[in-house]
Amino acid sequence: MSIMNELERKLCNSITAATNEQIYFALLDLVKEKAQKKEKLEGKKKLYYVSAEFLIGKLLSNNLINLGIYEETKKALEQQGKSLAQIEEIEMEPSLGNGGLGRLAACFLDSLATLGLPGDGVGLNYHYGLFKQVFENNLQHETPNPWITKESWLNKTEKTYKVNFGGFEVTSKMYDIDVVGYNNRTNKLHLFDIETIDESLVGDTIDFDKDEVEKNLTLFLYPDDSDDKGRILRVYQQYFMVSNAAQLIIDEAIEHGSNLHDLADYAVIQINDTHPSMIIPEMIRLLCQKGLLMDEAIEIVSKMCAYTNHTILAEALEKWPIHFMNKAVPQLMPIIVELDNRVRSKVKDETTYIIQNDLVHMAHMDIHYGYSINGVAYLHTEILKNTELNNFYKLYPERFNNKTNGITFRRWLMSCNPELSNLVTELIGEGWKKDANELEKLGNYVNDDAVLQKILDVKQTKKNELVAYLKEKQGIEVDANSIFDIQVKRLHEYKRQQLNALYVINKYFEIKEGKKPNHPITVIFGAKAAPAYIIAKDIIHLILCLQEIIANDPEVSPYLKVVMVENYNVTLAEKLIPACDVSEQISLASKEASGTGNMKFMLNGAVTLGTSDGANVEIAQLVGEDNIYVFGEDSQTVIDRYERGDYCSKDYIEKNKLIKRAVEFIVGPEMMKVGQKENLERLHKELIVKDWFMTFPDFEDYCKTKDRVVADFDDRKTWAKKMLVNISKAGFFSSDRTIEQYNQDIWHL
Ligand SMILES: *Cc1c(COP(=O)(O)O)cnc(C)c1O
Repeated sequence: MSIMNELERKLCNSITAATNEQIYFALLDLVKEKAQKKEKLEGKKKLYYVSAEFLIGKLLSNNLINLGIYEETKKALEQQGKSLAQIEEIEMEPSLGNGGLGRLAACFLDSLATLGLPGDGVGLNYHYGLFKQVFENNLQHETPNPWITKESWLNKTEKTYKVNFGGFEVTSKMYDIDVVGYNNRTNKLHLFDIETIDESLVGDTIDFDKDEVEKNLTLFLYPDDSDDKGRILRVYQQYFMVSNAAQLIIDEAIEHGSNLHDLADYAVIQINDTHPSMIIPEMIRLLCQKGLLMDEAIEIVSKMCAYTNHTILAEALEKWPIHFMNKAVPQLMPIIVELDNRVRSKVKDETTYIIQNDLVHMAHMDIHYGYSINGVAYLHTEILKNTELNNFYKLYPERFNNKTNGITFRRWLMSCNPELSNLVTELIGEGWKKDANELEKLGNYVNDDAVLQKILDVKQTKKNELVAYLKEKQGIEVDANSIFDIQVKRLHEYKRQQLNALYVINKYFEIKEGKKPNHPITVIFGAKAAPAYIIAKDIIHLILCLQEIIANDPEVSPYLKVVMVENYNVTLAEKLIPACDVSEQISLASKEASGTGNMKFMLNGAVTLGTSDGANVEIAQLVGEDNIYVFGEDSQTVIDRYERGDYCSKDYIEKNKLIKRAVEFIVGPEMMKVGQKENLERLHKELIVKDWFMTFPDFEDYCKTKDRVVADFDDRKTWAKKMLVNISKAGFFSSDRTIEQYNQDIWHL
């Protein structure tokens, strides 16, 4: 039966007569049915990817593509005067993640299913997700982001478990989302929840009563941790997640014939950052409860668990106070103490102990009691081995390995940029969709003027689409002929949105002085700041104020525009990335573990302006220096300076007039007119007395290099060549490659 007939049968109506909403829900139903008919991936051994975040994005188009019925559906709808793009607008984006780490988990699930590997995700079903960002008076405000509708991709299952906390017990409920592989079979994303959740605790803001865990456990991802109540709620969430995961893993292994002594032959657990680390003591606890001796339980669990490190930022390596653990999960503490004692009895280096100063170091537990520790890009793993985790590397060199991150090309090219996807297929055939390395064949066209022109045409089409979208959704006007210079990612000082903002201020002064750029530039930002991260919110304030000042300055606005999009998420990323000319990847060298945004931009023909950091290093190696703009100090210089502790931001301000002028502008009269004195003065002070992420040493090189980018942009043919080379070399960054490496080196499925 054709898709159209199937749809009309679901609708009990003709497509023409149905509303977009009716069609959306009929499609949802239809796709869910088709996904469930696909064979579930089975094998003796199964991977459980346990993660606090799964930033999966909308699923309709992606699932249609992976089921191989996207084109047919789109055409059938078009013939009836309906637009799939408009129907997709009905879908709410699941708000189950925060940034790169959660998006990585989502790309990995897609690749696991596509490669036919048995591997499920395990996480939590946050009702209000992270938060929805709204701008008011040039400030970020956070509101709840409800995304669960009556009919959704969630399927309620019969599975429930008991989870014990100190003094009370909750009953979990498991929801599943089907993960459809590309022309393949399906896996599951298991999301645990409790039925006693009280959504009425949440009003217009993200504040809520943190007292009753039974009512608030799965309301929000990363509840505010600026007080103890919020912090301990995170412990409750993490334990709830891993206790459910551990019970599920044991259940499924027994179902498949395990006698528990051989559990490691049935299950492998990837611990995505430290949020799921408690799965180690929880699994040991459950095995002991089932009659195994402690020695054996520890040995089994140590053969099952592998840990991925995502950051070297000290504040992100979780350490929980013992008194939190004793209150929330008292049953785990004796096991954690035992694990720590075993380390203490065989390891001299006290810095590696699990319990220090009454804090439980989650990563330390992962490293001692897991069999694999991986970083997420070459440079990051080297820094872990040689600096950050060097003490552990000396103990267990064989456990450390690198798995450079990747992205799924189904979502980040085929779905978000069908025009480029079709052009690629027209040039080199369909093979790249299964083997991303075939993109290299595009290299044959670097001197083909007609092809270069087509690439430029596709880019212009996507820029025009973005312009229309921003106008409609956010009321923002952008010149489609300007250079689209885009920095979208979580807001963090190490990612250095403030450096980009200082460039904007400097450019503003230059234009005022009559030094106009050869081509108008639109600097686009998109970023959420963590609600308790004051300076990050001040940087958003700075950017929003700059947007207003420049838009209202007729001398400057023809040449420079600043746009900060509201509530950056996967849906917006899918619109912004295909339209980008210049990809801003300007983190302080050594601080960005990998980045995956950089890969998405490259794949869509943007040229990177970046530091030698994270996966930028590998991008540069692949495309060669003619096809990327690298600037700034290298990671060793930065690491050495931190070690010496002699960075003094004031010195740079005093030495460099341009830096001084830009920094003083933050508290100047133009800013004060549109901004808040308190926020601007705080940010200004932070920069002159601290600048912890060393914005100023890279300022001059950044401005010079960015000006070179702008100058080079007008040689359209040479620019198009750079675009083509970037696309052709992006194959390495397919998450299919990443997952194959995880499987070969770690999981052995
Ligand atoms: C890819 C992605 C990220 C990660 O971006 P980075 O630049 O690697 O930090 C964050 N948020 C969303 C919505 C993404 O799609």
